[in-house]
Amino acid sequence: MSKTPKPPFSVTTPIYYVNDVPHIGHAYTTIIADALARFNRLQGKDVFFLTGTDEHGQKIEKAASEKGLQPRELADQVVGRIKDLWRELNISHDFFIRTTESFHERGVQKIFLKLKEKGDIYKGAYQGWYCVSDENFLAEEVPLEPEGDKICPDCGKRAILVSEECYFFRMSRYQKPLLDFYAQNPDFVRPASRMNEVVSFVRQGLKDLSITRTTVKWGIAVPDDPKHTIYVWFDALHNYLTGAGYDWDLATFEKFWPATVHLIGKDILRFHAIFWPAFLMAAGFPLPRTVFGHGWWLRDEAKMSKSRGNVLDPHIILKTFGPDPLRYFLLREIPVGLDGNFSHEGFLHRVNSDLANDLGNLVHRTLTMIQGYLGGLIEEGGAEQENDRKIREEFEELKKKVAEHFENYAVSRALEEIWVYINAANKYLAENEPWKIAQDISQRKRLSRILYQTAAAIRGVGYLLSPVMPGSSLKIWQSLGEKEPPEKMPYAEFEFEGLKAGSKIQRAKPLFPRVLLEDFLKEEERPALEKKETKMEVISFDEFKRMDLRVGEILKAEKVPGTDKLLKIEVDVGTEKRTMVAGVADTYSPEELIGKKLVVIVNLKPAVIRGIESQAMLLAAEIDGKAIIPFFDRDVPAGAKVK
Ligand SMILES: [Zn+2]
Repeated sequence: MSKTPKPPFSVTTPIYYVNDVPHIGHAYTTIIADALARFNRLQGKDVFFLTGTDEHGQKIEKAASEKGLQPRELADQVVGRIKDLWRELNISHDFFIRTTESFHERGVQKIFLKLKEKGDIYKGAYQGWYCVSDENFLAEEVPLEPEGDKICPDCGKRAILVSEECYFFRMSRYQKPLLDFYAQNPDFVRPASRMNEVVSFVRQGLKDLSITRTTVKWGIAVPDDPKHTIYVWFDALHNYLTGAGYDWDLATFEKFWPATVHLIGKDILRFHAIFWPAFLMAAGFPLPRTVFGHGWWLRDEAKMSKSRGNVLDPHIILKTFGPDPLRYFLLREIPVGLDGNFSHEGFLHRVNSDLANDLGNLVHRTLTMIQGYLGGLIEEGGAEQENDRKIREEFEELKKKVAEHFENYAVSRALEEIWVYINAANKYLAENEPWKIAQDISQRKRLSRILYQTAAAIRGVGYLLSPVMPGSSLKIWQSLGEKEPPEKMPYAEFEFEGLKAGSKIQRAKPLFPRVLLEDFLKEEERPALEKKETKMEVISFDEFKRMDLRVGEILKAEKVPGTDKLLKIEVDVGTEKRTMVAGVADTYSPEELIGKKLVVIVNLKPAVIRGIESQAMLLAAEIDGKAIIPFFDRDVPAGAKVK
């Protein structure tokens, strides 16, 4: 094996402003970064994952004084909550930077001086519209009123035109170097559509940038001119250098700068794709490889904002589900560059369908069968047959594709591929029917092979999911008797056949909870959905016994023409065949029902539905309006009594 060292991987999130508690938007960026960091660690790379907080500026001064706190006290409180949230979300950052730390302040001052000496920072006069009440300059984009002045968008009061001494960064000097750089590095801004936005903005010309204020006290002082403080954006962007060790941890800095990828929300693209590379060019630092602008999460199709009161608090989800379903949903639902919509229905659908059903059931069934049929031990089994080979080879393909998608920041595509494979493994089990083979002692080797392939597939899926769902991935590995966590296994060395015969499995426990929408909404203290359940009266055992419940085997199933929900099903109830009409087409296709065994009531008075006489009724749970049929987990003869 080649021993060429891999290039290090360095990923950052924006530093979060401490005037607000963390919400799902912060969690999203940080979860993407965490999945990328974990994936690159599996690849055997040296990884540096940096996150932290932006703690200076007027907004924080103001938010603190409203609470009767010093700015630093407010920052400490919010930082505590952010760090707690990262712990609950299983975030594996290597360093957490706070811009109020002295190494950061010193680093920023040092760079400021360097640029000043070079002539890229100069003193001039800033003329702008100033809101006296907010003690703040208005953004340049605020339009002029018909009277020729401007209105403060925050408080609605008239602003005044003032001129104040300040320092400028000579941005105008960097228009051409930036355009040249973009042309040579088309991957610098991703997705590609955002690169076009950036280039056309720079082409229009760049004005020098005011980077200090005399009206703001809570900030880093300009060296040798302390009545000026450094504008919060100039201060904050430099966290990527100081957080990586600039001027205080040389070894780390040399290894991990430039960053491989700055992950950011698309709203701060201009700062990261135009100002930041210009600052770096001016100070003579190499530039980061990629700035990736991700989309926003909308809540029920509306943008989340504090003022709308529709900000989603991740703690409520974490309390009910733990970190993995949230991590999975945010990464699976949309490609990293696009906007997504967060609805409770959408979230629960993913959790119940992808996690509890597809993955959770596969793991549970397999472990239960290994326990029941093989005494809980993994056996190697007989020679591979055609479909055994196929499920193994498909895994090798999957492993390659997942790596390519991660390299390309296409985490949702990687997850899609993993789910295609999970469904193939479910199909493999269904086709091989180990529960039937288990009845025949002479087929023991065949049975072991089927269960080995399935367990190996599950182990592989657990491994590939570890960057996204580290907790569940570990549980899957432990349940298969693995002694080391998946993180310890290098990607290149992971093999399907790495599952060792003789391993003792752990008893199956559900991996993911099934949660009802109404219970979840209650948690969130939104008006709970009206409960449809009414209290049932108590019945005697004799009354219960009047129901004739039987095992039925589905022989045929087809859609009832002209309906979306109804299937016409022919079922063998042991003594005879019965026809029934059932509202299960939302959940099941006719093909997947054939051969399944379920519970039916055979002595219910027949009813005519859509012109078809329904002579039996199946039992099913209704979850979010969809029928979920309880099937038997081992083979039972049609017609057997259920009681
Ligand atoms: Zn104002």
